[in-house]
Amino acid sequence: MDQICIKRLEVFAKHGVLPEENALGQKFLISVTMYCDTKKAGTSDAIADSVNYAEVSALLERETQTNVFHLLEKLAWHLARKILLTYPQIKKVDLEIEKPWAPVLLPMETVSVKISRFWNTAYLSIGSNMGDKKENLIQAIRLLEADEETTVIRQSAFIQTEPYGYTDQDEFLNGALELQTLRSPEELLELIGQIEQKLKRERVIHWGPRTIDLDIILFNDEVIQTEKLTIPHVEMAKRMFVLEPLCEIAPYAVHPVYHKTVTELKEQLERGVLV
Ligand code: AMP
Repeated sequence: MDQICIKRLEVFAKHGVLPEENALGQKFLISVTMYCDTKKAGTSDAIADSVNYAEVSALLERETQTNVFHLLEKLAWHLARKILLTYPQIKKVDLEIEKPWAPVLLPMETVSVKISRFWNTAYLSIGSNMGDKKENLIQAIRLLEADEETTVIRQSAFIQTEPYGYTDQDEFLNGALELQTLRSPEELLELIGQIEQKLKRERVIHWGPRTIDLDIILFNDEVIQTEKLTIPHVEMAKRMFVLEPLCEIAPYAVHPVYHKTVTELKEQLERGVLV
């Protein structure tokens, strides 16, 4: 992807762990590489079709001077996040902050922190089998959208499915969503947990405790196995109610362990073949 770069923007600010640093301030050098498609601006020659580096530089200076953080790590994420939220055309940011006058008390040229942050693509499965099922799914989508760091990019149709596992319960309404998010997988799990809590709590008087179920199916091409989280979702290849809506919005998304597309997994399950 194309890159727009700012190298070693000099800003005087007060970040640091030591109280002297917070009182006196020192020099910070900020370098940014912003990944975006410049083809349109390359054709139109119009600044409106690109990212104005003077505007980004002003943003970097303002955000660096109006906050005081202990760590360069915190400042780096704060700045990268601001750029990604302000300019939707920027998909990824590499950002380095140098602190040449850092109180190291030994001869050195500079210290720095360098990070790379980008919009992640995640796929969620959503389902409801209690109360106003459609309304529950719509509410969950609204709450995902209300998160500043998350955008719902695509949404499948909702399909009615037979209950899976415990069959002695009402039919489900299921769907799939494609998200763009700055959250890590753990942070996304936290968000969907909060949304589940919120909807369950609101509905508890009328409809009982299980009105909504949200699962992370895929997160970029990452494979994650922790106490709290398994990605890709461990049951995805066995569940038609996950694969069918997912196939509608992401037929060519690839399972990073089985190396098969969602379409292939669905066809396999239709033939009764389990991976
Ligand atoms: P359930 O409500 O039945 O979907 O279960 C939610 C629990 O499963 C959560 O507490 C998570 O810690 C765990 N879990 C493991 N992997 C995932 C995933 N990919 N998406 C959502 N929850 C997950």
